[in-house]
Amino acid sequence: MDILNNIIVKTELTKGTRLETEIKENKTGYLMDPGTQTPGTSSGMSSGTISASETVSITRCNSYDIEELTEGIKKCVGMLGGFKKFIGTSKKIILKPNLLSASNPDLAVTTHPAFIEAIINIIKKVCVPGTKIIIADSPGVSTPHTKKDLKRLYKECGLSHLGEMENVELNLDTGFSEISFKEGKVLKHLEIIKPVLEADLIINMPKFKTHNLTKITGAVKNMFGSIYGRTKTLLHTKFMDIAKFSDMNLDVYLYCKPALNVMDGVISLEGEGPGASGKPRNTGLILAAINGIALDNVVAELMGFKRGIIPLLQCAAQRGIKGAELEEINILGGELADFACENFILPKKSPVDAISKNRFLNTYIFPFIRNNLSLSPYENIKECTMCKTCIEVCPEKAISEGQGVLVFDYKKCIRCFCCSEMCPYGAIDLKYSALGNLIFGRKNIK
Ligand code: SF4
Ligand code: SF4
Repeated sequence: MDILNNIIVKTELTKGTRLETEIKENKTGYLMDPGTQTPGTSSGMSSGTISASETVSITRCNSYDIEELTEGIKKCVGMLGGFKKFIGTSKKIILKPNLLSASNPDLAVTTHPAFIEAIINIIKKVCVPGTKIIIADSPGVSTPHTKKDLKRLYKECGLSHLGEMENVELNLDTGFSEISFKEGKVLKHLEIIKPVLEADLIINMPKFKTHNLTKITGAVKNMFGSIYGRTKTLLHTKFMDIAKFSDMNLDVYLYCKPALNVMDGVISLEGEGPGASGKPRNTGLILAAINGIALDNVVAELMGFKRGIIPLLQCAAQRGIKGAELEEINILGGELADFACENFILPKKSPVDAISKNRFLNTYIFPFIRNNLSLSPYENIKECTMCKTCIEVCPEKAISEGQGVLVFDYKKCIRCFCCSEMCPYGAIDLKYSALGNLIFGRKNIK
């Protein structure tokens, strides 16, 4: 079976949604070209010698005054062709801000409500009548993915009034779908929140922030907030290695593939971001790009990181993804050096680095979490023909043949689910342990 026709096997997509359309069109090559779809459509083709996908536009904006923001955002996105070009006839638009935690906007941890409001106002003037604009995020682990907690998040982040605007909704749908993503490098299964799956168009609205694990948290990392609630915790545990964690973030970004990234860098976060340990800093910037990897590359440069040390960009470069090299990027709005943030405080410590070196956690706690809370593969004896494909593809040699049955070594198993992906007979089920079921309240997955 054509691998691209088989990208999504388990989600219940609404007919006509963005993802359904992409699969029908059998789009190829976007792993190498993450932002080149013609906005509002899905052509997936690069456009010329300097592709728009490697273009980042930058404007100055010194306050969250709505009029000033509106002008600044229009100017910034205008350099890429303007919002209308991206929105086309989309009827359901997802705005994906960074809503890491229920934080006062003054802390600069989250995308500022005025920034979101300005974008809504601009979109409303160019979209087709009746277009629904939905603000959606799956916040950090400190905020459970429940209606009650999402309401609290919106209130604390200063967004409640936006939900009262005509045709604008603060997402309260806490559902998700299990997606099979065969093209992911390290993530073959994703649990994506429903509004992201059902969108015609996604506009990613990251914040200009440091991150004490990944160094920056920009456009790519912001799409990690498309992963359902506590699954994010499991992925953090599963991908303790920073390179794997970065590849995982790339997989999520490439799967969700927002049509446009518009970054709030008016008040940014320096030092020990991405949460309240960071310090707000007036940087007065708005940035936009189709290609989120290129945008993050520019952010790292403006913050003053040495080139080549951002793990996400290293991984993107290894995968040949466009925008990973600064030389590929065309800057619009001025010279890159003119926008540099002088003496921007970079993060020093990486708690996860320290944690990952902790022998007790590594020996007892993480294996316990992995073995007891993650999904695990099991043989469906009725369906299995003992073809041994799974034994051959398992990268950890965690499957062997017993007496007419498969034997899984869960101590070796890294939960990559290649066995389940590759079984020609669908004979590998994914199951939570009793404890996992209790905590996550989930049905097991066929
Ligand atoms: S690939 Fe499927 S059918 Fe073949 S041995 Fe493994 S579980 Fe059984
Ligand atoms: S058994 Fe092997 S292939 Fe299957 S999930 Fe575990 S490590 Fe991956």
